[in-house]
This record gives sequence, C-alpha cells and structure tokens, in this order.
Amino acid sequence: MLRSESTCAVHVDLASPEGSLGGWERALVEVRGELVPALASRVLGRFEDRLLERACGARRQPVTRVAPFGCPRCGAGSGFRRRGRRSRQVRSRQVLSRAGHLVLRVAMVGCRCGHRFAPLLGALGVGPRARLTPGLARRALELCSELPYARAAAQLRREAGAAPSPRSLGRLVRRAAEVIALERSRSQLGNVEAVLVDETRVRAGPRKGQDDRGRELKIALALRPPGAGRRIELLGANLAGSWAALGPVLHAARGARIAVTDGEWGARSMLAQVLPGIPHQVCTFHVRHSLDHRLWQDGVPFARRRALAARLGNAIEFAPSAESAERALSSALAAAERNRWRHTTKHLREVAPHLATWLRLDPEGRLTHTTSLLERTMREVNRRVDPVGVRWSLEGARAMTALILARRFQHPRWLRLCQDRGPATSRARIS
Ligand SMILES: [Zn+2]
Repeated sequence: MLRSESTCAVHVDLASPEGSLGGWERALVEVRGELVPALASRVLGRFEDRLLERACGARRQPVTRVAPFGCPRCGAGSGFRRRGRRSRQVRSRQVLSRAGHLVLRVAMVGCRCGHRFAPLLGALGVGPRARLTPGLARRALELCSELPYARAAAQLRREAGAAPSPRSLGRLVRRAAEVIALERSRSQLGNVEAVLVDETRVRAGPRKGQDDRGRELKIALALRPPGAGRRIELLGANLAGSWAALGPVLHAARGARIAVTDGEWGARSMLAQVLPGIPHQVCTFHVRHSLDHRLWQDGVPFARRRALAARLGNAIEFAPSAESAERALSSALAAAERNRWRHTTKHLREVAPHLATWLRLDPEGRLTHTTSLLERTMREVNRRVDPVGVRWSLEGARAMTALILARRFQHPRWLRLCQDRGPATSRARIS
C-alpha cells in the first residue's frame, strides 16, 4: 500500500489594536470556501510525489520495479519516466469534486510505448478529458434524476461549492444513459418468481397533433419471492421502441414462474416468443379498467358499468380458487353475450384464459398477479419527465428515464457507474 500523510498549517492572524477584535468573522468566512479545496489540492500533490517516487525512483535513474499504476494505453506496469523537470512539465488541471473546485498541478509520466499520462488523475478516476471526479459525477446524476437541470446545478454548488453548467449536466446524463444501456441484456438472474411488463406514456419528442399522449415507455421487471435477495430487479426498458426491442432483456429472467402484462397484444406475443413456456397472467388490476372501457364502448351507463367491472374484478382478485375465478369469468361472459355487448364479449374471450393463471399455478394465491409495482415507478418517472409546460426531446427523455429507472432499482450498470474504485482507504482528522 502506498501511503502519504500530509499536514497543512492554516495561518490565522488576529490583530487587535484596542482590545476589540474586528473583522475576524469576515476573515474566517472568506477563507471557509477555499479551505477544503486548498487542503485537497495540497495533499493530493503530496500523494502524487509519492506515486512518482515509487514508480520512477529518484530523478534521472529509471527504475524497473512495478509501479502502483499501469499505462492506460498499453497496460505496462513498469518502466515509466518523469517527463522532464517537474517545474517545466507541470500543467494545472481544473477538477470539480465534492470537496470543491480543485486546481491540481498534475505531473506527467511517459511510458515506453510512447504514451504520456498523469498518474494522479488516473488514481482519482478522472478521465483524460474529464473535469469531474467520480464522486461529484455520481452526486450530480442523483440530483439530476430528481430536479430540473438548473436546480440540480444550484443544489450541487451549495453542497460542493462547484458545479458544471445545466447544459453540461444534460450531457453527463446522456453519457451515463449510454453506459447504463437499458436496452442491453444483463446477466442471468437466479430465483426469479415473476416477470412484469408494462408501459406508460411520456410526453417527449415532436408533438403529434392535438390529441398527443406522448411516447410509450416500456419497462420489464423481475420479481423474487420475499427473503431471496433483492426483491425487484430491473430487466430493461425502452422509450418509443417496439415490444420486440424489449424482448432480449427478458432472457435474464428465463426461470420465472409467471409473466404478468397489462394484457396488451404486443406484450403478450413478445413474451410468448421470448419466454415460451412461462405461463401468462393478465394484470387483474388492469382488467377492471379495460372492462370498464369496453362496457362504455358498448353503451352501458356509468353506474352500471362501474359496478359490473368492480364485481368481476373483485371476483377474480379475491377468488378462493382458480375454479371460482373461472366461474365468475364465464358468468360475466354469458351476461355480456346475453346483452349483446359486442366489445365486452370480444375482450373477455381474449383475456379470460389469462386471468386465473396465478391461482392455477399456486392455489395459495401467493403469486404476483398485477403490475401495480410498475405503476408506482411510472408515476415517479412522470413526475420528472412530464412537468407542465416542458417538452422533452426524445433523446433527453430517453436518457433521463434510463437514469431514473436504473437508480431506483439499483441496476448493476448504475452501481458500477462513477463508483470510487476500491475500498475507502483514506481518512482525514483534525488534530
Ligand atoms: Zn504504455
């Protein structure tokens, strides 16, 4: 382990000509904002000296021992040389961190492959052209997922004393979303009980006429039984994409016992293709709304159709057994046929075989049979992406929804993003 200890002295001159102390508060407040960044720049500079000593040895005497870092281009772990005298080669780098705005006089080393780089920036996790430390970038992304960009920048400045512009925050979010890539599959998940697939609408992209309800955001989740690791896992999502495009992310939940959808035909045919053999359930919560809608299409008055939809909904939801749910369904279907409710009849014929799946699979009724978990998530997405009077670009909304979902469900690619590398081995104390 490479260690470097630094002690910095802070000089405070207090002068009192006539017994009273004037201006001491102002002097300390003035220095307050600069204190920690100045301290950080100083101790990091000291650490850099130790880093170069270890890797390059004394000046003009190249050493062959293994350095505490590798060459970013060729991966070599030794044979580095300081690039000239420090005083001439040093360039200062502006880095925004959670400890404030740092001005670092980074030293460069040269590798035998010809590549020149700054080992200190590598140790801090700051890329060659980057300006943010991983800690600040992560905090910025968290704030961006909750607040408009301008307010996120203001909040970041209050917290850390430094912040990128709102426009740069937008770029940061788009880059993060590219890494998170929710359209890409994740590795196989164990112990999955249910797959939930649903969609909502997000007002983004060019307006489509008067009755514009936005673009579909499709989300797929995997659910584990209680006590078997993380309960909810995000499988993937896409904005303004097709059901078929969501298909590949479902492979990670191949072992699921049941797949729940809102009953939409596209979602169902995609599931049948991607996860054949996994029994399908139409969300029992959605069926109340869809039934109500079909009864409205058939001209059934408000009070009566509400009562009918609620009665059938309850009969399925609280059925003691699959048989009893099926009986309720067939009597509802018979009533619809008797009354010549064309739309309702067609709809019930379609969904009926998929409404009691959860009870057939587990007579105790413990299996998931709604996508209501997703409803809550969608409200959260809409709060950020659907505020009144703001129209998002499709690209911006796509990035933001990916960020919100990945953060909410702790997607592994979000967890790896901007992470401080390795265990926390640094300490500071006031003596
Ligand atoms: Zn190299």
